[in-house]
Amino acid sequence: MKSLLVRFFLFSLVIAACSIAVTAWLASQATTGAIRQEQGEALETDAQIYDEMVKYAATHKDWSAAKSTVEGVAKTYNRRIALTDGNGRKLLDTGTENAPPLPVTPKALIDPLNLNGKVDPHAVGPFKLSDDETRKLRSYADQLLECNGRVEIVEYPNGRPRVTSLEPGHFSLWEDCPAGDYLYTMTATEQKAYEELQPYFLDCLKTLPGNGQIPAKAPGRVTLDWDYLVIAGTSTDVVQCMDTARREMLKSYVAPPAQMFLTSPTGDEPQPIDLSTTGTTRIMLVALGILAIAGFASWVTATQLVRPIRALTAATKRTAEGDRTARVDGGAGEIGELAKSFNAMSEKLAETERQRQAMVSDVAHELRTPLGNITGWLEATQDGLAEPDPHLIDMLLEESLLLQRLVDDLHDLAQADAGTLRLHPEPIALDDVVDQVVNAQQNREILLRAETTPVHISADPVRLRQALGNLVANAVRYTPPGGEVVVKLFQWQDQAILEVTDTGTGIAPDDVPHVFDRFWRADKSRSRRTGGSGLGLAITRHLVEAHGGSVSVTSTLGEGSTFRISLPSA
Ligand code: ADP
Repeated sequence: MKSLLVRFFLFSLVIAACSIAVTAWLASQATTGAIRQEQGEALETDAQIYDEMVKYAATHKDWSAAKSTVEGVAKTYNRRIALTDGNGRKLLDTGTENAPPLPVTPKALIDPLNLNGKVDPHAVGPFKLSDDETRKLRSYADQLLECNGRVEIVEYPNGRPRVTSLEPGHFSLWEDCPAGDYLYTMTATEQKAYEELQPYFLDCLKTLPGNGQIPAKAPGRVTLDWDYLVIAGTSTDVVQCMDTARREMLKSYVAPPAQMFLTSPTGDEPQPIDLSTTGTTRIMLVALGILAIAGFASWVTATQLVRPIRALTAATKRTAEGDRTARVDGGAGEIGELAKSFNAMSEKLAETERQRQAMVSDVAHELRTPLGNITGWLEATQDGLAEPDPHLIDMLLEESLLLQRLVDDLHDLAQADAGTLRLHPEPIALDDVVDQVVNAQQNREILLRAETTPVHISADPVRLRQALGNLVANAVRYTPPGGEVVVKLFQWQDQAILEVTDTGTGIAPDDVPHVFDRFWRADKSRSRRTGGSGLGLAITRHLVEAHGGSVSVTSTLGEGSTFRISLPSA
């Protein structure tokens, strides 16, 4: 679990799974919505077709003349409509000849006399008023409206206008309007229709207890409704009988019940979308597929990511074991940067190692010559080949002093490296320091002089004498007899400048960058006696930098050199 590879892999899998789940959920939400809307629209279309068919059936004796109407409806709604009678015999079919067979179950039963137990209002039969009668009744209705604005008139399917009003007792509304009475007088057509209805009604009444008599408890008030009598206040059985009678009578005026089939014009019904099993399985399979692809992709990415990290780890281990040649190719990006830093660090480490080895060998080399000299003289004395006279003792002392100086220099450098070089700064007059150094280094062969202006700074006088002393000693050493060495001191901006200029050998341009390196000497063969150990300038630079200053050199081969120390004087 701690492996970066495994963690990255699992993390990507979780993200992929989450996004698949969310996407699937959103898609299913959107699809379900669309399906519902489509189904709703289809249902609405079917309901409109059904209404049209019922209307036709209610106003026609049979289906023989229905062809053009049904075809019109089928075209409007872009559906195939087929009608069969109760025995399954085809009455009508708008489908083409090679249309597929009808479905087993019909969409609906078209029966205008039984719409959920009610008679369709369009089935008016003999109650259909003649145009004359309708016209007359309409004019009465208009008059009534003029006489009493509080009524509302609605025309019913049989052509009779009827008063509606939300106010109870609306009969009183036209008390002073004779048109109201005219409106509510039966027309000849209605008179005839009621006569036709009468026998059916009486037949039904006979089946009730009381043998055809309307029960006495009811006042038997018979009121005229828009198409048949409402017998108010009688038992529900009697009201039922009026309904039955009406149905019986209308049977011969409406088309017989028919079964309606609705399919798409080409015959094939759209398959309802099934999300139960196949849908779910498909979604699962697709999800698994995507997960597999995501898993593979993340595995590949993770492996690529982890490869340079593993290489880095291996290289670090090799470096820790002492191998300084370990390098990593990390490519581009952040890990590439890390690899580059590692390589740079390795290089630096190797360089330091090299310097350390060179240093040890240089130190050994520097120690060997004076020690060899001392040993040689002492052995010769022991063997009686040399006399231990004052001259010999002087030489031995000189060698041991050189050794002493070398060890002191090394000690200073070690302190500087370790950051333990202690300074004891105090306010000093720099011109005094220059005078001291120049006086100490005077000799007869070279003209050594100082040009100073009074400059006061805060510094460690001992260490500054050491630093300047190294420069002046070098200048004197590398200037042939008759040459000149000038030490200048002046203030420049906020710096105190010490310049040591000589007319000596100068330094080759290629050597200039190395003069401050440890154990570096332009003339490798020059003996330590004529030259120094190669540590002087390195120590000078450390001392000056410890004072917050800097040291630099300009030189022309064969003409002379100028070493410049700048110290902050503020
Ligand atoms: P050394 O003890 O050998 O003088 P330094 O570190 O003082 O060591 O100097 C390093 C080298 O720089 C010298 O060996 C010499 O080649 C060169 N050098 C330093 N000062 C001068 C100078 N004033 N003129 C010419 N060469 C110089």
